[in-house]
Amino acid sequence: METILLLANSESDGSLAKPAHEALGAAKALTSALPGSKLVVGLIGQTVQPAADSIATCGATAFLGVAGADFAPSRYATDAAAAEALAKAAQATILLAPATSRWNRTLPGVAQRLGGRADTHVTGLSADGGKLSINRWYYRQRMEAVVQRAQRPWAILVEPGTQPAWQGERGTATLQPVSVNLPESCKRTTVVGLREPAADAQTIRPDAVLLLVAGAGWTKKQADGQPHVKDAEKLIHDCLKLARASLGSSKSLVDLGGEGQAVLSFLTHLNQIGQTGSTPRHPKGLATCCHGEEPHTVGWRFINERRAINLDPNCGWARGKADVLYVADAFAVIAKVNQLLAENASK
Ligand SMILES: Cc1cc2nc3c(=O)[nH]c(=O)nc-3n(C[C@H](O)[C@H](O)[C@H](O)COP(=O)(O)OP(=O)(O)OC[C@H]3O[C@@H](n4cnc5c(N)ncnc54)[C@H](O)[C@@H]3O)c2cc1C
Repeated sequence: METILLLANSESDGSLAKPAHEALGAAKALTSALPGSKLVVGLIGQTVQPAADSIATCGATAFLGVAGADFAPSRYATDAAAAEALAKAAQATILLAPATSRWNRTLPGVAQRLGGRADTHVTGLSADGGKLSINRWYYRQRMEAVVQRAQRPWAILVEPGTQPAWQGERGTATLQPVSVNLPESCKRTTVVGLREPAADAQTIRPDAVLLLVAGAGWTKKQADGQPHVKDAEKLIHDCLKLARASLGSSKSLVDLGGEGQAVLSFLTHLNQIGQTGSTPRHPKGLATCCHGEEPHTVGWRFINERRAINLDPNCGWARGKADVLYVADAFAVIAKVNQLLAENASK
Protein backbone atom coordinates (compact mmCIF):
# COMPACT_ATOMS: atom_id res chain seq x y z
CA MET A 1 0.00 0.00 0.00
CA GLU A 2 1.67 3.18 -1.19
CA THR A 3 1.04 6.83 -0.38
CA ILE A 4 1.95 8.65 -3.57
CA LEU A 5 2.82 12.32 -3.15
CA LEU A 6 2.80 14.36 -6.34
CA LEU A 7 5.13 17.32 -5.84
CA ALA A 8 4.87 20.37 -8.09
CA ASN A 9 5.60 24.07 -7.99
CA SER A 10 3.19 26.76 -9.10
CA GLU A 11 4.36 29.16 -11.82
CA SER A 12 4.60 32.91 -11.24
CA ASP A 13 0.96 33.31 -12.42
CA GLY A 14 -0.19 30.63 -9.96
CA SER A 15 -0.78 27.96 -12.62
CA LEU A 16 0.78 24.54 -13.05
CA ALA A 17 3.03 23.93 -16.06
CA LYS A 18 2.66 21.02 -18.49
CA PRO A 19 5.41 18.82 -16.92
CA ALA A 20 3.49 19.01 -13.62
CA HIS A 21 0.29 17.85 -15.35
CA GLU A 22 2.24 14.98 -16.91
CA ALA A 23 3.69 13.92 -13.55
CA LEU A 24 0.15 14.10 -12.13
CA GLY A 25 -1.06 11.90 -15.01
CA ALA A 26 1.59 9.33 -14.05
CA ALA A 27 0.73 9.60 -10.35
CA LYS A 28 -2.98 9.07 -11.08
CA ALA A 29 -2.31 6.04 -13.27
CA LEU A 30 -0.09 4.52 -10.58
CA THR A 31 -2.63 5.14 -7.84
CA SER A 32 -5.27 3.26 -9.85
CA ALA A 33 -2.87 0.43 -10.68
CA LEU A 34 -1.58 -0.13 -7.14
CA PRO A 35 -4.43 -1.51 -5.02
CA GLY A 36 -4.96 0.26 -1.69
CA SER A 37 -2.70 3.19 -2.56
CA LYS A 38 -3.68 6.83 -2.25
CA LEU A 39 -2.72 10.06 -3.98
CA VAL A 40 -1.74 13.24 -2.14
CA VAL A 41 -0.80 16.48 -3.89
CA GLY A 42 1.94 18.72 -2.43
CA LEU A 43 2.36 22.18 -3.92
CA ILE A 44 5.09 24.79 -3.46
CA GLY A 45 5.08 28.41 -4.58
CA GLN A 46 4.23 32.04 -3.93
CA THR A 47 0.54 31.12 -4.01
CA VAL A 48 -0.69 27.59 -4.50
CA GLN A 49 -4.49 27.79 -4.24
CA PRO A 50 -5.03 28.52 -7.99
CA ALA A 51 -2.78 25.56 -8.87
CA ALA A 52 -4.67 23.31 -6.43
CA ASP A 53 -8.02 24.48 -7.85
CA SER A 54 -6.86 23.70 -11.39
CA ILE A 55 -6.43 20.02 -10.44
CA ALA A 56 -9.11 19.86 -7.73
CA THR A 57 -10.91 16.95 -9.42
CA CYS A 58 -7.84 14.74 -9.85
CA GLY A 59 -8.94 12.39 -7.07
CA ALA A 60 -6.26 13.29 -4.52
CA THR A 61 -7.22 12.50 -0.93
CA ALA A 62 -5.49 15.68 0.27
CA PHE A 63 -3.93 18.86 -1.10
CA LEU A 64 -1.00 20.11 0.96
CA GLY A 65 0.67 23.44 0.31
CA VAL A 66 3.79 25.38 1.27
CA ALA A 67 3.21 28.96 0.15
CA GLY A 68 4.87 32.34 0.49
CA ALA A 69 7.45 34.63 -1.08
CA ASP A 70 10.29 32.49 0.30
CA PHE A 71 9.07 29.56 -1.81
CA ALA A 72 8.53 31.41 -5.08
CA PRO A 73 12.04 31.17 -6.56
CA SER A 74 13.75 27.99 -7.68
CA ARG A 75 16.25 27.68 -4.82
CA TYR A 76 17.62 24.38 -3.53
CA ALA A 77 17.51 25.18 0.20
CA THR A 78 13.90 26.37 0.35
CA ASP A 79 12.58 23.87 -2.20
CA ALA A 80 14.23 20.98 -0.34
CA ALA A 81 12.93 22.17 3.04
CA ALA A 82 9.41 22.50 1.62
CA ALA A 83 9.47 19.12 -0.13
CA GLU A 84 10.81 17.42 2.99
CA ALA A 85 8.03 18.95 5.10
CA LEU A 86 5.38 17.92 2.55
CA ALA A 87 6.71 14.35 2.36
CA LYS A 88 6.63 14.04 6.15
CA ALA A 89 3.13 15.57 6.42
CA ALA A 90 1.82 13.16 3.78
CA GLN A 91 3.80 10.19 5.19
CA ALA A 92 4.63 9.53 1.58
CA THR A 93 6.22 6.31 0.45
CA ILE A 94 6.51 7.45 -3.18
CA LEU A 95 7.44 11.02 -4.19
CA LEU A 96 6.70 11.87 -7.82
CA ALA A 97 7.80 15.14 -9.42
CA PRO A 98 8.40 16.43 -12.94
CA ALA A 99 12.05 16.10 -14.00
CA THR A 100 12.47 19.83 -14.56
CA SER A 101 15.76 21.50 -13.66
CA ARG A 102 14.13 22.72 -10.43
CA TRP A 103 13.04 19.29 -9.24
CA ASN A 104 16.02 17.39 -10.63
CA ARG A 105 18.20 19.57 -8.43
CA THR A 106 16.06 19.23 -5.33
CA LEU A 107 14.51 15.81 -5.04
CA PRO A 108 17.59 13.57 -4.77
CA GLY A 109 18.72 15.64 -1.76
CA VAL A 110 15.27 15.32 -0.22
CA ALA A 111 15.39 11.53 -0.66
CA GLN A 112 18.75 11.52 1.11
CA ARG A 113 17.34 13.52 4.04
CA LEU A 114 14.40 11.13 4.34
CA GLY A 115 16.57 8.01 4.17
CA GLY A 116 15.06 7.10 0.81
CA ARG A 117 16.29 6.60 -2.73
CA ALA A 118 15.86 8.67 -5.91
CA ASP A 119 15.67 7.91 -9.61
CA THR A 120 15.96 10.69 -12.19
CA HIS A 121 14.95 10.84 -15.89
CA VAL A 122 12.26 8.19 -15.48
CA THR A 123 10.47 7.54 -18.79
CA GLY A 124 7.94 4.88 -17.78
CA LEU A 125 6.07 3.63 -14.72
CA SER A 126 4.11 0.41 -14.34
CA ALA A 127 2.56 -1.65 -11.58
CA ASP A 128 2.38 -5.23 -12.78
CA GLY A 129 1.34 -7.61 -10.02
CA GLY A 130 0.91 -4.73 -7.57
CA LYS A 131 4.64 -3.92 -7.69
CA LEU A 132 5.92 -0.57 -8.87
CA SER A 133 8.55 -0.60 -11.64
CA ILE A 134 10.14 2.32 -13.44
CA ASN A 135 11.92 2.53 -16.78
CA ARG A 136 15.10 4.50 -17.27
CA TRP A 137 17.67 4.72 -20.08
CA TYR A 138 21.41 4.41 -19.50
CA TYR A 139 24.62 4.86 -21.47
CA ARG A 140 23.35 7.68 -23.68
CA GLN A 141 19.98 6.09 -24.31
CA ARG A 142 21.36 2.76 -25.49
CA MET A 143 20.21 0.50 -22.68
CA GLU A 144 16.85 0.60 -20.98
CA ALA A 145 16.52 -0.71 -17.44
CA VAL A 146 13.41 -1.65 -15.51
CA VAL A 147 14.00 -0.88 -11.83
CA GLN A 148 12.17 -1.93 -8.67
CA ARG A 149 13.11 -0.77 -5.19
CA ALA A 150 12.23 -2.00 -1.72
CA GLN A 151 13.50 1.18 -0.03
CA ARG A 152 10.97 3.86 0.88
CA PRO A 153 10.44 6.70 0.37
CA TRP A 154 11.24 6.39 -3.30
CA ALA A 155 11.62 9.69 -5.15
CA ILE A 156 10.87 9.47 -8.86
CA LEU A 157 11.51 12.28 -11.36
CA VAL A 158 9.28 11.88 -14.39
CA GLU A 159 10.86 12.98 -17.68
CA PRO A 160 8.74 15.69 -19.38
CA GLY A 161 7.13 14.55 -22.62
CA THR A 162 6.96 10.87 -21.69
CA GLN A 163 3.57 10.72 -19.95
CA PRO A 164 0.10 11.85 -20.98
CA ALA A 165 -0.82 15.03 -19.10
CA TRP A 166 -3.72 14.82 -16.63
CA GLN A 167 -6.80 16.57 -17.91
CA GLY A 168 -9.88 17.34 -15.90
CA GLU A 169 -12.28 19.92 -14.59
CA ARG A 170 -11.24 22.76 -12.32
CA GLY A 171 -12.81 22.92 -8.88
CA THR A 172 -12.20 24.23 -5.39
CA ALA A 173 -9.55 22.32 -3.50
CA THR A 174 -9.35 22.30 0.28
CA LEU A 175 -5.74 23.18 0.82
CA GLN A 176 -3.99 22.21 4.02
CA PRO A 177 -1.08 24.58 4.71
CA VAL A 178 2.13 22.90 5.85
CA SER A 179 4.50 25.08 7.84
CA VAL A 180 8.22 24.94 7.24
CA ASN A 181 10.80 26.02 9.76
CA LEU A 182 13.12 28.03 7.55
CA PRO A 183 16.39 29.24 9.06
CA GLU A 184 17.95 32.41 7.59
CA SER A 185 20.75 30.28 6.16
CA CYS A 186 18.24 28.78 3.70
CA LYS A 187 17.66 32.21 2.15
CA ARG A 188 21.24 33.20 1.38
CA THR A 189 20.82 32.49 -2.33
CA THR A 190 18.70 35.06 -4.11
CA VAL A 191 17.42 34.81 -7.66
CA VAL A 192 18.09 38.21 -9.21
CA GLY A 193 16.43 37.56 -12.55
CA LEU A 194 15.94 35.22 -15.43
CA ARG A 195 17.81 35.42 -18.71
CA GLU A 196 16.42 33.72 -21.75
CA PRO A 197 16.89 34.15 -25.48
CA ALA A 198 14.36 36.28 -27.35
CA ALA A 199 11.42 34.20 -28.56
CA ASP A 200 12.64 34.14 -32.18
CA ALA A 201 16.20 33.24 -31.12
CA GLN A 202 14.93 30.24 -29.18
CA THR A 203 15.62 27.36 -31.53
CA ILE A 204 15.23 24.43 -29.14
CA ARG A 205 11.53 23.69 -28.72
CA PRO A 206 10.94 20.33 -27.03
CA ASP A 207 7.17 20.53 -27.72
CA ALA A 208 7.57 21.03 -31.49
CA VAL A 209 6.06 18.39 -33.77
CA LEU A 210 9.04 18.62 -36.13
CA LEU A 211 12.77 18.41 -35.49
CA LEU A 212 14.67 20.08 -38.34
CA VAL A 213 18.27 18.92 -38.38
CA ALA A 214 20.96 20.93 -40.16
CA GLY A 215 24.19 19.23 -41.16
CA ALA A 216 27.59 20.50 -42.26
CA GLY A 217 26.56 20.27 -45.92
CA TRP A 218 24.84 23.66 -45.58
CA THR A 219 28.28 25.28 -45.27
CA LYS A 220 30.03 23.24 -48.00
CA LYS A 221 30.79 24.37 -51.55
CA GLN A 222 27.74 23.86 -53.71
CA ALA A 223 27.31 23.12 -57.45
CA ASP A 224 28.67 26.57 -58.42
CA GLY A 225 31.86 25.92 -56.45
CA GLN A 226 30.94 28.43 -53.72
CA PRO A 227 29.55 28.03 -50.18
CA HIS A 228 26.26 29.87 -49.51
CA VAL A 229 26.17 30.15 -45.75
CA LYS A 230 24.04 33.32 -45.58
CA ASP A 231 21.42 31.76 -47.87
CA ALA A 232 21.51 28.60 -45.73
CA GLU A 233 20.99 30.65 -42.59
CA LYS A 234 17.94 32.39 -44.01
CA LEU A 235 16.40 29.19 -45.39
CA ILE A 236 16.78 27.34 -42.08
CA HIS A 237 15.62 30.29 -40.01
CA ASP A 238 12.52 30.79 -42.18
CA CYS A 239 11.73 27.08 -42.10
CA LEU A 240 11.98 26.99 -38.30
CA LYS A 241 9.67 29.96 -38.02
CA LEU A 242 7.09 28.79 -40.55
CA ALA A 243 6.99 25.15 -39.41
CA ARG A 244 7.40 26.04 -35.71
CA ALA A 245 10.11 23.41 -35.68
CA SER A 246 12.89 22.73 -33.23
CA LEU A 247 16.45 22.96 -34.55
CA GLY A 248 18.90 20.10 -34.23
CA SER A 249 22.38 19.89 -35.69
CA SER A 250 25.13 17.45 -36.49
CA LYS A 251 28.34 17.62 -34.50
CA SER A 252 30.33 18.63 -37.57
CA LEU A 253 28.23 21.74 -38.09
CA VAL A 254 28.37 22.99 -34.49
CA ASP A 255 32.09 22.21 -34.30
CA LEU A 256 32.81 24.44 -37.30
CA GLY A 257 32.14 27.49 -35.10
CA GLY A 258 35.05 26.55 -32.83
CA GLU A 259 37.26 26.18 -35.90
CA GLY A 260 36.62 29.79 -36.90
CA GLN A 261 34.59 28.91 -40.02
CA ALA A 262 31.41 30.62 -41.14
CA VAL A 263 28.45 28.95 -39.45
CA LEU A 264 24.81 29.54 -38.71
CA SER A 265 24.67 32.30 -36.11
CA PHE A 266 21.82 30.75 -34.09
CA LEU A 267 23.46 27.32 -33.58
CA THR A 268 25.16 26.24 -30.37
CA HIS A 269 26.35 22.89 -29.02
CA LEU A 270 22.99 22.63 -27.27
CA ASN A 271 21.49 21.92 -30.70
CA GLN A 272 23.71 18.88 -31.27
CA ILE A 273 21.87 15.59 -31.69
CA GLY A 274 23.62 12.26 -31.28
CA GLN A 275 25.91 10.11 -29.23
CA THR A 276 27.64 13.11 -27.65
CA GLY A 277 24.60 15.36 -28.05
CA SER A 278 20.95 15.10 -27.13
CA THR A 279 18.25 12.51 -27.83
CA PRO A 280 15.08 14.57 -28.31
CA ARG A 281 11.53 13.26 -28.59
CA HIS A 282 9.66 14.75 -31.53
CA PRO A 283 7.03 12.92 -33.56
CA LYS A 284 8.81 13.83 -36.83
CA GLY A 285 12.34 14.62 -37.94
CA LEU A 286 13.76 16.04 -41.18
CA ALA A 287 17.53 15.92 -41.70
CA THR A 288 19.01 18.33 -44.22
CA CYS A 289 22.59 18.32 -45.57
CA CYS A 290 23.49 15.79 -42.89
CA HIS A 291 25.16 12.52 -43.80
CA GLY A 292 23.35 10.34 -41.25
CA GLU A 293 26.32 8.64 -39.65
CA GLU A 294 25.67 6.33 -36.72
CA PRO A 295 27.02 8.67 -33.97
CA HIS A 296 24.48 11.24 -35.21
CA THR A 297 21.47 9.00 -35.91
CA VAL A 298 21.73 7.30 -32.51
CA GLY A 299 20.25 10.58 -31.21
CA TRP A 300 17.16 9.98 -33.36
CA ARG A 301 16.14 6.95 -31.30
CA PHE A 302 12.88 8.50 -30.16
CA ILE A 303 11.94 10.30 -33.39
CA ASN A 304 9.01 8.35 -34.81
CA GLU A 305 8.96 9.41 -38.46
CA ARG A 306 12.31 10.18 -40.08
CA ARG A 307 13.04 11.84 -43.40
CA ALA A 308 16.23 13.22 -44.89
CA ILE A 309 17.31 15.36 -47.84
CA ASN A 310 20.74 14.59 -49.22
CA LEU A 311 22.49 14.86 -52.59
CA ASP A 312 24.17 11.53 -51.97
CA PRO A 313 21.97 8.44 -52.63
CA ASN A 314 24.49 6.37 -50.63
CA CYS A 315 24.46 8.51 -47.51
CA GLY A 316 23.81 6.94 -44.10
CA TRP A 317 20.09 7.77 -44.20
CA ALA A 318 19.73 5.47 -47.24
CA ARG A 319 20.94 2.56 -45.14
CA GLY A 320 17.87 2.00 -43.08
CA LYS A 321 18.21 5.16 -40.97
CA ALA A 322 15.35 7.10 -42.56
CA ASP A 323 11.81 6.19 -43.61
CA VAL A 324 12.12 8.45 -46.65
CA LEU A 325 15.27 9.86 -48.29
CA TYR A 326 14.84 12.66 -50.83
CA VAL A 327 17.92 12.61 -53.07
CA ALA A 328 17.86 16.31 -53.83
CA ASP A 329 19.46 19.69 -53.21
CA ALA A 330 18.31 20.83 -49.77
CA PHE A 331 18.69 24.49 -50.78
CA ALA A 332 16.07 24.00 -53.49
CA VAL A 333 13.78 21.76 -51.44
CA ILE A 334 13.70 23.98 -48.33
CA ALA A 335 13.15 27.10 -50.47
CA LYS A 336 10.09 25.39 -51.99
CA VAL A 337 8.88 24.08 -48.62
CA ASN A 338 9.13 27.60 -47.14
CA GLN A 339 7.19 29.03 -50.07
CA LEU A 340 4.39 26.47 -49.55
CA LEU A 341 4.34 27.00 -45.79
CA ALA A 342 4.12 30.78 -46.26
CA GLU A 343 1.26 30.37 -48.75
CA ASN A 344 -0.54 28.09 -46.30
CA ALA A 345 -0.04 30.52 -43.44
CA SER A 346 -1.53 33.41 -45.42
CA LYS A 347 -4.71 31.48 -46.33
C1 LIG B 1 33.04 9.54 -30.55
C2 LIG B 1 32.24 10.29 -31.57
C3 LIG B 1 31.07 10.91 -31.17
C4 LIG B 1 30.30 11.62 -32.09
N1 LIG B 1 29.13 12.19 -31.67
C5 LIG B 1 28.36 12.82 -32.60
C6 LIG B 1 27.10 13.38 -32.22
O1 LIG B 1 26.71 13.35 -31.05
N2 LIG B 1 26.37 13.99 -33.16
C7 LIG B 1 26.77 14.08 -34.47
O2 LIG B 1 26.04 14.65 -35.29
N3 LIG B 1 27.95 13.55 -34.85
C8 LIG B 1 28.76 12.93 -33.94
N4 LIG B 1 29.95 12.43 -34.35
C9 LIG B 1 30.42 12.76 -35.71
C10 LIG B 1 29.78 11.91 -36.79
O3 LIG B 1 30.46 10.69 -36.90
C11 LIG B 1 29.83 12.65 -38.14
O4 LIG B 1 31.15 13.06 -38.38
C12 LIG B 1 28.92 13.88 -38.21
O5 LIG B 1 27.63 13.57 -37.79
C13 LIG B 1 28.89 14.36 -39.67
O6 LIG B 1 28.15 15.53 -39.75
P1 LIG B 1 27.38 15.92 -41.06
O7 LIG B 1 26.62 14.77 -41.56
O8 LIG B 1 26.66 17.19 -40.83
O9 LIG B 1 28.59 16.32 -42.07
P2 LIG B 1 29.20 15.60 -43.32
O10 LIG B 1 29.64 14.23 -43.02
O11 LIG B 1 30.19 16.56 -43.86
O12 LIG B 1 27.97 15.49 -44.33
C14 LIG B 1 27.46 16.56 -45.06
C15 LIG B 1 26.37 16.02 -45.94
O13 LIG B 1 25.73 17.10 -46.59
C16 LIG B 1 25.33 16.64 -47.86
N5 LIG B 1 25.08 17.82 -48.72
C17 LIG B 1 25.96 18.79 -49.08
N6 LIG B 1 25.31 19.73 -49.81
C18 LIG B 1 24.02 19.36 -49.88
C19 LIG B 1 22.88 19.92 -50.51
N7 LIG B 1 22.92 21.05 -51.20
N8 LIG B 1 21.71 19.25 -50.37
C20 LIG B 1 21.62 18.08 -49.67
N9 LIG B 1 22.68 17.50 -49.07
C21 LIG B 1 23.87 18.14 -49.18
C22 LIG B 1 26.48 15.78 -48.34
O14 LIG B 1 26.06 14.88 -49.33
C23 LIG B 1 26.87 15.07 -47.04
O15 LIG B 1 26.19 13.84 -46.92
C24 LIG B 1 30.74 11.72 -33.43
C25 LIG B 1 31.91 11.08 -33.84
C26 LIG B 1 32.65 10.38 -32.92
C27 LIG B 1 33.92 9.73 -33.39
